[in-house]
Amino acid sequence: MTTQEYPQFDTLVLGAGIAGLQTALDLAEQGFQVAIVERDPSIGGKMIRLSKVFPTLDCASCITTPKMAAAAHHPNITLFTYCELNGVERTGSGLKASVTQKPRYVDPDKCTGCRSCEYACPTFVPDHEQGGFTSRKAIYVPFSNAVPQKAVMDPENCWICGKDGGQCVQVCATDAINYFDKPEDFTLEARSMVLATGYELIPDYSEKAFGPASQHPNLITSLQMERLLAPHGPYMRALRPSDGKEPDSIAFIQCAGSRDLNLGVSYCSRVCCMYSIKQAMLLSGALPLADITIYYMDIRAFGKNYEQFFQNAKAMGVEFVKAKPMVIGGTEDGAVRLRYEDQEGGGGGMTREHDLVVQALAMVPAWNPEGVVDVSTATDGFIKSVKPKIAPTLTDMDGVFTAGVAAGPKDIVDTIVEAGAAAMEVSNYLNQEALVAAE
Ligand SMILES: Cc1cc2nc3c(=O)[nH]c(=O)nc-3n(C[C@H](O)[C@H](O)[C@H](O)COP(=O)(O)OP(=O)(O)OC[C@H]3O[C@@H](n4cnc5c(N)ncnc54)[C@H](O)[C@@H]3O)c2cc1C
Repeated sequence: MTTQEYPQFDTLVLGAGIAGLQTALDLAEQGFQVAIVERDPSIGGKMIRLSKVFPTLDCASCITTPKMAAAAHHPNITLFTYCELNGVERTGSGLKASVTQKPRYVDPDKCTGCRSCEYACPTFVPDHEQGGFTSRKAIYVPFSNAVPQKAVMDPENCWICGKDGGQCVQVCATDAINYFDKPEDFTLEARSMVLATGYELIPDYSEKAFGPASQHPNLITSLQMERLLAPHGPYMRALRPSDGKEPDSIAFIQCAGSRDLNLGVSYCSRVCCMYSIKQAMLLSGALPLADITIYYMDIRAFGKNYEQFFQNAKAMGVEFVKAKPMVIGGTEDGAVRLRYEDQEGGGGGMTREHDLVVQALAMVPAWNPEGVVDVSTATDGFIKSVKPKIAPTLTDMDGVFTAGVAAGPKDIVDTIVEAGAAAMEVSNYLNQEALVAAE
């Protein structure tokens, strides 16, 4: 196959969170041809999984869904979901990307997203999209507003339940299910690339910090709390996972891994103060009689109207305690027991119990480019920006740019601004290249 036979794009955007989607839309609107490569079966990133967003308390999916639909329907954007980027090499002034399409075991061209297969499937598996609090099936559409609305099968949990193949096969009206699906490698060519791979929460902080006490079912992560608060969340209400009780007392542990060189990461994750305040306010609306406490090291309300947001939470009765608590175990009635040093009240070592405890875990990079794309990372592991002040989206590889949390923790406002900046840098780069080629 000659180079010309590969699909050609102006830009390859890696990652379809809000950063990747916004960059792709901005470029597509300027007439550039954009490929988006996303490793999940759906686009949308973390934002589509959030409840409401600070500081406006808009519904996250109401803002994200139109962007997802716009990207999916834009004539200049091609989506490659459920794909893994294996490597990128330079070809003259362009880039050649080798990608693997992971097997869905469902033909996306035939699947109508009717979910009959999902309803028929007898196997229940913990649903990570819902924080692991409820179950999904072994064949499933990832979530109700997933794009594309196509089913995917998880072969590890499918035991081909029927006599003549699985029950999913029997109910599928379009014959879309294919147990013999295999990974498929393909190549894309692009003149530029944007890395928008975002973040994950630090995976092992709790075990390191709290040992066996970290296994308490009512000690949850901040993203799990987002699901408890979401309109289409696991219980449709904020309930305690261990027994479904409405929590009377909820606590947040800030800097869980952030600014902690021994057990976590050295940097501030920037958004945790604000999202915990947001979650506290939403809980206080949903459970007006509950006591809500935020244990913090410093409150960093850095953005426009953020300080007011913090003051509003205090006025609503959210308690702020300057301390870094340890989780030391649980009580018989399911509460989580915390131990902390009362820094401001001078009360010395204190013990308190809460029905539900949320850890504001540090943000860490979702992806390491090493061995795949020849860009450097900074000491914090995020993509290195070579001109952090005047051109923060520039990496040290010509024609490769970055946007959003891939380059370091930031909120949605800053992510959107950076995505626009990345699109502008790409556009300048492509236009400059075209001028040079024309000379
Ligand atoms: C609990 C919590 C609550 C929050 N609440 C708010 C809020 O209320 N307001 C606010 O402004 N901010 C909030 N944030 C921050 C917000 O989530 C981020 O600012 C935003 O999601 C960043 O978007 P992104 O596109 O950069 O990254 P992501 O949303 O992480 O998207 C990255 C995408 O890239 C994909 N990807 C990763 N690696 C690869 C790869 N190798 N190949 C292909 N695809 C890949 C991922 O699957 C994902 O789809 C919150 C954060 C947390 C943790």
